[in-house]
Amino acid sequence: MRAVVLDADRLSQRSDYPTPTPGDDEVLVRVTRAGVCETDLQLIKGYMGFRGVLGHEFVGVAEAGPFKGRRVVGEINCSCGDCSTCRAGRRSHCPNRSVLGILNHDGAFADYIVVPQRNLHVVPDSIVDDVAVFTEPVAAAFQIPDQVYLDHDMRVVVLGDGRLGNLCAQVLAGITAHVTVVGKHPEKLAILRGRSGIATKLLKDVEPDRAADLVVDCTGSPTGLPTALTLVRPRGTIVMKTTVAGEQTMAWAPIVIDEVTIVGSRCGPFDRALMAFESGEIEVLPLISARYDLSQGVDAIEHARSKPVLKVLLDVK
Ligand SMILES: [Zn+2]
Ligand SMILES: [Zn+2]
Repeated sequence: MRAVVLDADRLSQRSDYPTPTPGDDEVLVRVTRAGVCETDLQLIKGYMGFRGVLGHEFVGVAEAGPFKGRRVVGEINCSCGDCSTCRAGRRSHCPNRSVLGILNHDGAFADYIVVPQRNLHVVPDSIVDDVAVFTEPVAAAFQIPDQVYLDHDMRVVVLGDGRLGNLCAQVLAGITAHVTVVGKHPEKLAILRGRSGIATKLLKDVEPDRAADLVVDCTGSPTGLPTALTLVRPRGTIVMKTTVAGEQTMAWAPIVIDEVTIVGSRCGPFDRALMAFESGEIEVLPLISARYDLSQGVDAIEHARSKPVLKVLLDVK
């Protein structure tokens, strides 16, 4: 089959990659659409030391199992189900897990991907593939209200005007009335302007006023957390939404002095994301910047890496 494969920091376009064989409780899914994510770009830089087929944002058609012939999306953490972490209900933290396209499991930039049946969710007919392919990042944005207390009057700042910043802002604006997205790209901020409850600001115009109750760092940059500390109020909360390859150093004393809560945040509820697409709460189509055929997958990733784009999609036909 065709696949975009990462080997020792080198990406290659393959047409002879072996089609994966599903194991027990796994299903072969024929991919129809996949999205390039910041995490993919970090993996190429060496994050997690991943080798194999990239891609964890996808929609496809189940080839077998109870959902055979239906369109599906898949949660990315493949947990064992048996260990004490899984039994305690924290399956996405299973120490024995693999993660689609990120850790010990081939991903979705390919004609086919193997996914555990329990990870699959049927996509309602009203949700087109171009929308369904955003389920994983929208679910990740919905993880924030699952983790931190939010009320209508809170002042929220989202740092980063990229894909995830946009989605987090939309989710948070459904709960709180004062969401400000801070970014460096006027054209990306413009996509959010006009959405109710969302204000936008260029990073260079932001005052370090220490007034936000909650700051969500979606920058994917080592400067995100230090910037967040200049905006969060004492006893406020910073949610860290993006991973950065490599080590970071910074002054941690302000976190103690100002009693700031720092919350790491990763994967979220797929059912909630699908519901938000059905109800029209979250708008994703304006985020699509470019699309490539799977056979040009390396070019698609290069496009996402080198240009200030939002979402680059791969059509798998
Ligand atoms: Zn992702
Ligand atoms: Zn487990």
